[in-house]
Amino acid sequence: MSSTSLSRLSDLLLGTDPKQRLRLKRSLMAANVFLACIALQAYAAWSGFMDPGDVWRLSGAIVLNCLAFYVMLRSGFNLRFADPALTLPQILSALTIIVGAYAVTGPVHGSTMMLLALVLVFGIFNMRPRGARIAGAYTVALMGLTILYKMDSDPVNYPAKLEFAHFVLTAAIVPTISTLAAQLSSLRTRLQSQKDELAQALTRIQILATRDELTGLVNRRHMMEVLNQHQKRLQRSGHHRFCLALLDIDHFKRINDTHGHGVGDEVLRHFAVAAQSVLRDTDVLARWGGEEFLLLLNDTTTELADVGLQRVREAIASATLSPTVPTLQPTFSAGLTSYHEDEPLDLCIERADRALYEAKAAGRHRTVISQRPTPIKARYAAPRASGMPR
Ligand code: GH3
Ligand code: MG
Ligand code: MG
Repeated sequence: MSSTSLSRLSDLLLGTDPKQRLRLKRSLMAANVFLACIALQAYAAWSGFMDPGDVWRLSGAIVLNCLAFYVMLRSGFNLRFADPALTLPQILSALTIIVGAYAVTGPVHGSTMMLLALVLVFGIFNMRPRGARIAGAYTVALMGLTILYKMDSDPVNYPAKLEFAHFVLTAAIVPTISTLAAQLSSLRTRLQSQKDELAQALTRIQILATRDELTGLVNRRHMMEVLNQHQKRLQRSGHHRFCLALLDIDHFKRINDTHGHGVGDEVLRHFAVAAQSVLRDTDVLARWGGEEFLLLLNDTTTELADVGLQRVREAIASATLSPTVPTLQPTFSAGLTSYHEDEPLDLCIERADRALYEAKAAGRHRTVISQRPTPIKARYAAPRASGMPR
């Protein structure tokens, strides 16, 4: 059979949802215990220890039980329950069947006790502490009643002295296994909660490492990573051109000096929120340092980016940047430039910085656009290439 038809067959039998497949696989694996049980009965019948009628009845019950759980798991009916693996019902029904086998296998009934322990071992991996205790108590009680019944109805194959020993063994081993299962279950719960705590801590660390604490914006270090990714993407594809703008709040020191550092912080936080509210999802605003922000404008030219910056300017003008001093209306200056794929990122940021300096020098509250000067080589190369006289 080819691997595709094998995988199709496995999809048909087990479905495609990985969690449901695992539940079904576990259930089918447990069905192997039942196969051993059926084999034992067949042997008992062949050796003349067991009535063939009992073999058919018990084997039929086993097959029906396996089919019932297979249908419940395969149809998704199990998903309605708190434990979709249906661990406890599967364990209890398996225990019942094996105790049933104990009752009908006559002189070889002692060997079914091993299967009893095996079923409980299966439960160790999945059962919750309460389920493990229920399964243990159920097994001891059911075995006790069955032994009493068989000692009375079939004393030849179930002599009291032997049955007493069987019961003592059951009462000693089964609770030990279910206690172990309960302890393992608590250990699993503890490990799971530690895993969850670690995942939460990792998320917190990621936020701390990539975000600015005051404004919640991308921090300078992470912005460099973002810029590197954008640079690589542009160099690889030749698409997705981007612009960089350095924004600096005008006379910010005065705000701190007049109203205090707390109000200054408030302005920084509200500046970030107001600016982000009018930016595109693909644009990235980072706190570059102090009261300076670096804005990455994606898939755009300086002319269109300038329109975007105008939108930011209007948003800042209409926002309340300090609820403590609502009359505060700080402005900002910006240096804007576009990135060229053959240049280092630092050079582009420096160009935006120089343009910002020019905006400050020209009176603040404005944007200055800086285009990259054409490299000398390119300036001379163009006329020669087109055959024009120099
Ligand atoms: P200009 O218009 O030329 O930009 O003048 P400015 O006063 O804004 O610029 P300057 O660089 O002289 O002052 C920036 C001030 O920003 C100085 C510093 O104390 C303040 N600052 C830097 N980081 C923070 C911060 O996290 N919170 C507060 N409240 N102030 C900060
Ligand atoms: Mg400033
Ligand atoms: Mg500054």
